[in-house]
Amino acid sequence: MTLEIARIPVLSDNYVWLVHEPVSGETAVVDPAVAEPVLAEAEKRGWAITQIWNTHWHPDHTGGNADIQAATGCQITGPAAEAERIPTLDRKVAGGDTVTLGTVRAEIIDVPAHTAGHIAFHLPNAKVIFVGDTLFAMGCGRLFEGTAEQMFANMQKLAKLPADTCVYCAHEYTLSNGRYALAAEPDNAAIAARMAHVEAARARGEPTVPTTIGEEQETNPFMRAKSAAELAERRAAKDNFR
Ligand code: ZN
Ligand code: FE
Repeated sequence: MTLEIARIPVLSDNYVWLVHEPVSGETAVVDPAVAEPVLAEAEKRGWAITQIWNTHWHPDHTGGNADIQAATGCQITGPAAEAERIPTLDRKVAGGDTVTLGTVRAEIIDVPAHTAGHIAFHLPNAKVIFVGDTLFAMGCGRLFEGTAEQMFANMQKLAKLPADTCVYCAHEYTLSNGRYALAAEPDNAAIAARMAHVEAARARGEPTVPTTIGEEQETNPFMRAKSAAELAERRAAKDNFR
């Protein structure tokens, strides 16, 4: 599988992902917070943007939709359940639907909780998943429009993907997540070891995502929560953690 994925850091801590499928030449943008840096990166690489994929309606995931579409004529795909809040959507999808990028197939997975209609784009043949603000390195999204039960179900669902699946999330939150993870599971040696790497990487100004499902199974206190109640407890603790 020869998919090329480029990271575009924007705003204070967002990552926009450019996904290029070289056989067809198609390129998708995942969660464009803004347009300019995305158009510039695609131009620099000689990639023609043909699609935008939105995981949820928040402006830091959709703010670049209109301008990128105006510049490229690309098609915009996003959650049917949030279509009213993303007026730029051309194609409305939900769990079980399939989206294609040239020869590559993305399966839509429903992961409601951060927002009510949040979706993930899973590319099983490429062993890649774009999770937006649902799963982060050692963290999970805040429960703005859903419940701990829903987020627990999401974590269980994602944990069942192959361990070597690469997880592309939309924010660089790893350092803050890791500090809480250490407090939540002080005896977890895998978290301590990972944090040493994360601290060094951030000190050098390097990104810490993508992550993998396997790494999250070992070090993510939300994926590791044994019940919805435990996830709820940990989410509330993280919300107030300094
Ligand atoms: Zn969000
Ligand atoms: Fe976000």
